[in-house]
Amino acid sequence: MRAVLVGPPGAGKGTQAQILAEELSVPKVSTGDIFRANVSGGTELGKKAKEFMDRGDLVPDEVTNAMVKDRLAQDDATEGFLLDGFPRNVPQAQTLKGMLSDLGSGLDVVLELRVDEEEVVKRLSGRRSCPECGRVYHVEYDAPRSEGKCDNEGAELYQREDDREETIRHRLKVYREQTAPLVEFYAAEGLLATIAATGSVAEVTARAKAAIAEKRSAA
Ligand SMILES: [Zn+2]
Repeated sequence: MRAVLVGPPGAGKGTQAQILAEELSVPKVSTGDIFRANVSGGTELGKKAKEFMDRGDLVPDEVTNAMVKDRLAQDDATEGFLLDGFPRNVPQAQTLKGMLSDLGSGLDVVLELRVDEEEVVKRLSGRRSCPECGRVYHVEYDAPRSEGKCDNEGAELYQREDDREETIRHRLKVYREQTAPLVEFYAAEGLLATIAATGSVAEVTARAKAAIAEKRSAA
C-alpha cells in the first residue's frame, strides 16, 4: 500500500496519518520526521537542510526530494508507506512518480482530507494555552473553570500566534493555492480519493479506510 495523505491545517492530518499507518501496517513517512532524523543524524543532507532552516528559509525541493528518496529506499518502506507532508507541489509529485518508477512501483492512492474552513477557523482560533503547564483549552468546547485562567495553577491563558484567526486564514489560503494544482494532478492520474474530515477522529478514520479500500478494488 503506497499512499499519500493531503490535508489543510486543522484537518487532523497528523493524527490520521499515525492511525492509518498502523491500521494499514505501513510506516508513516513524514517530512518533519525525515528532517529531524537527518539533522540529528548529522547527514550531509541534514546539514544542508539545517542551513536553510536556521536562516528561516524553506528547505529547497532538491534537498527535500533527496531525503525522501533515501527514506523510501529503506527496508521498511519497500512494501508500502503512508506519506505525510510530501509532495507539496506538482514538481515534487512528478519527482515522486519518477523515484517510485525507478524502484519499480507507484502510488496506489492519494487521500485528500477536506474541511469546512470556517469550522477550522472557529475550532483553532478558540484555543487558549497555559504558559505554565502547557494545557490547551477552548473558549467554547473546553473552557477553564475560571475565564482566562488555567485550572491547574491559575496562570493567565494566552492565544498562540499559530491560533490567531489571521494566521489560520493565511495558512488555509496558502494551502489552498499550493494544493489545488496538486489535487488536480492526482485526479488526472486517477489516484485521488477525497473524504470529509469532519466528525470524530474514529469517523474520519473509518471514512478514510473505506475510501482507500474502494480505490484499491477499483485499481
Ligand atoms: Zn496551567
